[in-house]
Amino acid sequence: MQTFLFITLTAFMVLFTSCTEQEVVNVYSSRHYDVDTRLLDKFSEKTGIRVNTVKADSDQLITRLENEGDRSPADVLITADGTRLVIAKQRGLLQRMDPDIAGSVVPLQWRDSDMYWTGLTKRVRFLVYHPGRVDAVDLADYESLTSEKWNGRLLVRSSNSHYNQTLLTSVIVALGEQGALEWAEGIVRNMAREPAGNDRDQVKFIAAGLGDVAIVNSYYMGLLHNSQNSEERNVAGQMEVFFPNQDGRGAHVNISGAGLAAYAPNRENGQRLIEFLLSMEAQEQIANENFEYPVLPGAGLPDMLMKWGPFREDTVSLDSLGQYSGQAMMTFNRAGWR
Ligand code: FE
Repeated sequence: MQTFLFITLTAFMVLFTSCTEQEVVNVYSSRHYDVDTRLLDKFSEKTGIRVNTVKADSDQLITRLENEGDRSPADVLITADGTRLVIAKQRGLLQRMDPDIAGSVVPLQWRDSDMYWTGLTKRVRFLVYHPGRVDAVDLADYESLTSEKWNGRLLVRSSNSHYNQTLLTSVIVALGEQGALEWAEGIVRNMAREPAGNDRDQVKFIAAGLGDVAIVNSYYMGLLHNSQNSEERNVAGQMEVFFPNQDGRGAHVNISGAGLAAYAPNRENGQRLIEFLLSMEAQEQIANENFEYPVLPGAGLPDMLMKWGPFREDTVSLDSLGQYSGQAMMTFNRAGWR
């Protein structure tokens, strides 16, 4: 009788503990998009795993991971820029994830070959222009934006932007250090105004007549077109988009991606989250609601991305871009790109 009672009590306690000990996953994320909240809620609903999110700039998150060391509560690092994942890996802040998670589904181009990080989405840094003031035949590539024709007509945000930094690393790889410096100087020369605001603001500046062509991440055009704000929809409706470098190396593509933190206390849950974000369901939701390109081949695209059509991507590896991130900052400074 006593043994029976003991077993019953033990079973009850195991059951009680498993019911009360909430499974969690701790995410450090520099993504700043509404779709993420909906996705993470969906993950929690499906798995019962609670998601705790710390949001900050990816450089701040990397510093935080370095300071926390092996006491870090972080399980997953998510960034909106691929080179930051390369840097996080270099600094020992990530660990290898189970190759089954991304290895078989994400093309090698968009993930780390050692599986320390994987792309979750792709974004193209393309051109947005006002068709009343710009003839598309005059647009070609990033390089030709330095020609005199564009003097005082170009809009692009500051060099603090990771999107610009990674774009410049791709120019360094393509043109060499001197070529990239001359390119950055040419862009600065043609700027319609001193860099200010975010990507969406550059498009609004065109609508306001401050300039004619802007360098912008592709999904922001989708977000403007589908904004709750009618003024933003009106701005987007006046614009056309252009994929540069289609006769050469292709348009610059960056990823937003994820890695498993080096000391992840909830390693399994972290892997489950990354696996969920790479599922067809999540990939199509990100494409439909945030207009990023899925990394999962075969994932459906929203009408707008279908309408933009296929395009040639610059296939330089993110690893090689990551090597030049320090160089890019020096080049921006030398060129006077604020
Ligand atoms: Fe963004």
